[in-house]
Amino acid sequence: MPRTPPQTVKELLYWSYACLAMAHSAVSKEQERYAQVNYIIRAKLYKGLMDGTMDVGSIFQDEKVKISQGDICSYCGGAGPLALDHVIPRFSGGQDRGDNLIYACRKCNSSKGKKDLMEWMQQNKRFPSLMVLRRYLKLAIDWSVENDAMNLSIESARASQLPFNVDFVPTQFPTPDALCLVAQANA
Ligand SMILES: [Zn+2]
Repeated sequence: MPRTPPQTVKELLYWSYACLAMAHSAVSKEQERYAQVNYIIRAKLYKGLMDGTMDVGSIFQDEKVKISQGDICSYCGGAGPLALDHVIPRFSGGQDRGDNLIYACRKCNSSKGKKDLMEWMQQNKRFPSLMVLRRYLKLAIDWSVENDAMNLSIESARASQLPFNVDFVPTQFPTPDALCLVAQANA
């Protein structure tokens, strides 16, 4: 378990990613509530990420299939017309590369605009699909590793305007029955 609340960018992002793995294991098995096995997955992955014996590629090998299924908005599950949306906005330093681009409907695309994905979701009282959140966390982790930001304190991360908002990275997840692997219509 990390210190509460997490004290560094590394603790924050790895804890969130470990929670994601916990949620993924429960949602994949269609559990309504978290069980001991899910908490064990979270604890093991968090420890492994922190000590460097595991990496974020350790789960979600099926992402490519799942995220590209169907012609629906990745955020709301709505039908087209769809446009490519930057998960991390270009405005915040997000890049024009494949893992930062996702299909979204026009409504979500313009509503999200330059906002941080998680900030936007929270404002709309929604939680992203696990595959979209996985993409977001992986981008945040990759960026932080490449830019030596992992060991920044949360305070200095706030001050240095990272491409993601440390105040909205989820550290508590909804119960599995309120989550989905990929966006679903009317979810
Ligand atoms: Zn949408």
